[in-house]
Amino acid sequence: MKPIYFDNNATTPVAPEVLEEMLPYFSEFYGNPSSMHTFGGQLHRKIEEARAKVAGLIGAEPEEIIFTSCGTESDNTALMSAVESYPQKRHVITTRVEHPAVLNFCKHLSRKGYRITFIPVDNSGRLDMDAFLKAIDDDTAVVSVMYANNETGVIFPITAIGGMLRERNILFHTDAVQVAGKIPINVKDLPVDMFSISGHKLHAPKGIGALYVRKGTRFYPYIIGGHQERGRRAGTENTASIIALGKSCESAKEHLDKEADYLKRLRDRLEGALLKSCPDAQVNGDTENRLPNTTNISFNYVEGEAILLRLDEYGICASSGSACSSGSLEPSHVLRAMGIPYTAIHGSIRFSLSRYNTEGEVDKVIEMMPPIIKELRTLSPYGKEESRKC
Ligand code: PLP
Repeated sequence: MKPIYFDNNATTPVAPEVLEEMLPYFSEFYGNPSSMHTFGGQLHRKIEEARAKVAGLIGAEPEEIIFTSCGTESDNTALMSAVESYPQKRHVITTRVEHPAVLNFCKHLSRKGYRITFIPVDNSGRLDMDAFLKAIDDDTAVVSVMYANNETGVIFPITAIGGMLRERNILFHTDAVQVAGKIPINVKDLPVDMFSISGHKLHAPKGIGALYVRKGTRFYPYIIGGHQERGRRAGTENTASIIALGKSCESAKEHLDKEADYLKRLRDRLEGALLKSCPDAQVNGDTENRLPNTTNISFNYVEGEAILLRLDEYGICASSGSACSSGSLEPSHVLRAMGIPYTAIHGSIRFSLSRYNTEGEVDKVIEMMPPIIKELRTLSPYGKEESRKC
């Protein structure tokens, strides 16, 4: 059975044109791009073509793109580079709602003696700008604020934040893993110094990422070895995946505006219908500034894990902010930071759509959810009262 896949913020399918483009580079053109012979050396040109396409998606210059193995490596590299480049500065600012790729790296830095400020958010997931301004000081080496949150889709005011940091000459990194390919970006107009991308969130394979580093930004490599990526990231290039990322960025750029409208329409239809048919349900996060493909809805007094299991029986894939289903021991740190009550966190479901989803699939989920919620509320110890309503 083909799944109804509404978990695209977790990962996306590789686009057919991307797969087609990368396949010859496994067993036909398998040379090492650093080799002197033409067979290997020709791949160097293909990598540079891919670099130009990745740069093209975000308005960067090709030489400002460094290929990495994933979004996590891009995030770690950006933070490590910043603190290594400014060794006299011992303070890092980030937010409470970052992906673990940033959050846990900052905790690692904290154990190494760095002072870390984790900026809070309000109950719509919006950054506390006063706290942010107060946190900046002469000791701040870098600020890392995600462009959009992976759980709620809430978009942060990157332009405003970057503007304030530029005035103070402080490095600014943004984890844009959930944003690249979903909304238009032009780094020429964006006051950021580093910007992380992950291939598998935009229809390229897992295991490839990129880091944009603005020309003139001090940079210190995270992976040290050979001369690849002009000495900025060692390791023989993942040629096939680099070519795939180039192709996926090219496709994303081509379809960006139309696709964003399409996803928003599907997402709004799904969200509107579920809020109408299921009482005691609400959207988590600022609905004004949000990725077009994401909705995070709390169905109060139900376990998110139980909802996911029931959806799974119908081949519907989504994810939840409750502990077990999110693969961690703790319920969502993002929803907790937003002050969402536990009864709502436990019943939170994230639906994240892609260009491959259809109206028919949305209608199927709209049809299946209300009876599932009603049934689970009847079974749930704290849902007995609520079950009569749905
Ligand atoms: N940052 C954000 C916002 C993400 O959503 C993810 C993945 O879910 C990552 C970073 C990590 O990316 P990767 O899986 O490529 O390491």
